Amino acid sequence: MVVMNRAPSASQNPLLAPWAGTFELPPFAAITPEHFRPAFDRALAEHRAEIDAIGASSAAPSFDNTIVALEKSGRELELVSNAFFMLAGADTSDEIEAIERDVSPLLARHNNALYLNRALYARIAALYRQSDALGLNAEQARVLERYHTRFVRAGAALEQPAQERLATINERLASLGTRFGQNVLADEKSFAMLLEESDLAGLPDFARAAARAAAGERGQPGKFAITLARSSVETFLQFSSRRDLREKIFQAWITRGENGGETDNRALIAEMVALRAERAKLLGFATFADYRLDDQMAKTPAAARGLLDEVWGRARAKAGAERAALQQLITQEGGNFALAPHDWRYYTERLRKARFDLDEAEIKPYFQLDRMIEAIFETARRLFGLTFSSVTVPLHHPDARAWDVTDAQGRHVALFIGDYFARSSKHSGAWMTALRDQEKLSGDIRPIVVNVCNFSKPVAGEPALLSFDDARTLFHEFGHALHGMLSNVTYPLLAGTAVPSDFVELPSQLYEHWLEVPEILRQYARHCRTDEPMPQALLDRLLATRTFNQGFATVEYTACALVDLDLHSLPDAGTLDVSEFEHKDLERIAMPAEIVMRHRLPHFQHLFSGGGYAAGYYSYMWSEVLDADAFAAFEEAGNAFDPAIARRLRDYIYGAGNLRDPGRAYEAFRGRLPTVDALLKKRGLADVMPV
Ligand SMILES: [Zn+2]
Repeated sequence: MVVMNRAPSASQNPLLAPWAGTFELPPFAAITPEHFRPAFDRALAEHRAEIDAIGASSAAPSFDNTIVALEKSGRELELVSNAFFMLAGADTSDEIEAIERDVSPLLARHNNALYLNRALYARIAALYRQSDALGLNAEQARVLERYHTRFVRAGAALEQPAQERLATINERLASLGTRFGQNVLADEKSFAMLLEESDLAGLPDFARAAARAAAGERGQPGKFAITLARSSVETFLQFSSRRDLREKIFQAWITRGENGGETDNRALIAEMVALRAERAKLLGFATFADYRLDDQMAKTPAAARGLLDEVWGRARAKAGAERAALQQLITQEGGNFALAPHDWRYYTERLRKARFDLDEAEIKPYFQLDRMIEAIFETARRLFGLTFSSVTVPLHHPDARAWDVTDAQGRHVALFIGDYFARSSKHSGAWMTALRDQEKLSGDIRPIVVNVCNFSKPVAGEPALLSFDDARTLFHEFGHALHGMLSNVTYPLLAGTAVPSDFVELPSQLYEHWLEVPEILRQYARHCRTDEPMPQALLDRLLATRTFNQGFATVEYTACALVDLDLHSLPDAGTLDVSEFEHKDLERIAMPAEIVMRHRLPHFQHLFSGGGYAAGYYSYMWSEVLDADAFAAFEEAGNAFDPAIARRLRDYIYGAGNLRDPGRAYEAFRGRLPTVDALLKKRGLADVMPV
């Protein structure tokens, strides 16, 4: 924590003055880290007073004096938190990290004061019991039901001793989650493989340029750095013919959070899993997975596992065939070694070249970041009538950009911010977040939505190039962003992405499909030097590789989802040895030895950095059943931009927040529930015999 001589007064603290700038953005240009703590303190106290007043009211509970009052409370806290956690994720520092460690248990304690407040719960429960008699419209009834469920799931109905224990557990989990994420970032920051030009055998120009830029950012001009950012490592693994260096970077990458010492995450995981299991028991569930899935679309761990099992055997079979082809290539070239995990991407790239006459270095110049941004915007224009105009506003980092989003009538819809380049102050991964959510309860509040990615930054003057996978990530995160921007609800609780996590990946994964729509590729995949569109033959070859290496990708993902479910199905995790658990569980599911989990437990941020996907990593595949089936609706219509289907998509999915139960919402869009067929076809697994 930074020690200040004097705390800044309210008048000097830009976070505490009204945010009067354009779009009412957080006043980034004026904010320094020491402004956050006093802003949190004031916002927390204000929200606490609001909550207590609602609970202590002597008036009989009504929808207005309880639910609407709750919905209107805590707005300042929300805005301060949103601004702070965006910085903590995208541009952190020692000062921000220290504040994060301080405020995360405070926020957990604050949440306890809200959700374990008996007086408040008594009012909500009374309203819920008589909800049919309250004359509520459908959205109001949904808000009331959601509040009731949230309070019950948080433990509001439990006796005092259980509540006290829950409160302690929640605070501890918040601290552990913060520490977990910071440890991963510390391991990523402290490692870079510094190379000389002579070490770069096999690397194409774009990869050399990115490595030179990364070395420059780390104060090593003239050298080349491979960092632990996914774009950097994976590119190196794909192209470098130096097996020794591939092994070295791969080892560093897969052991993040598992290096002993201060930043080792294994003890934190054991404690978090044990605390989650205990919390689930206090709330009446056998395991954390049972607790977690009870309020998801899947409802039970068995349902989630059923889907994963259906895919797993086929994925292993396909990966087995892929492995055999890679080994054959090694042998043909006179290699006298067995395929290892750090070889997979390299030989896959070689095989892709041989089989489809296609290599990433040939494709990449056609995927310029700026052109692909135009592509995501054009897709949104054709589907939803949105227009994006670049605007200059003060943002959190010079690399971030903003666009004013308007509808077909020219009305302001949202502000969209894109922060695309990797840097050492940014957590790894890609995500969407909001600085402000849409709602209509306090006027027509328009959202401010942010996409954060980790694409390699080019050296000055060079265009930023994406891999096809990066381009998919860009579309994915923008799908989440649209879910936030098109939100059309009255109550903040239901806005945008506030849906179950096994449904929230539908808007994002569905959007990825438009990257592969030929007319979008033809228009926006243009060569960075000549501006020529991608030749039809190359485009055909690119699309022909769609199911290539999908065995690997499916195994790499599904193993994570299975291990996550198994870990969070432990009834008691008192003496958990995390490394041993992971090892044994992978053995149990017969994980192919040449493939490593996409996220090993010691750096699995989806599960432990905040816990949003704990016992929920299966969500991506659950949502994929939906997205594959949903896109098939456009294919069946023979038009990827069919206006009637796009209209329903907006009404029931992208614009509908959490207005409806997810199953009902999907049925309203598609006219029926989805089947798994489209997913198996998409991944090339439909005709594979499971092993
Ligand atoms: Zn996502």
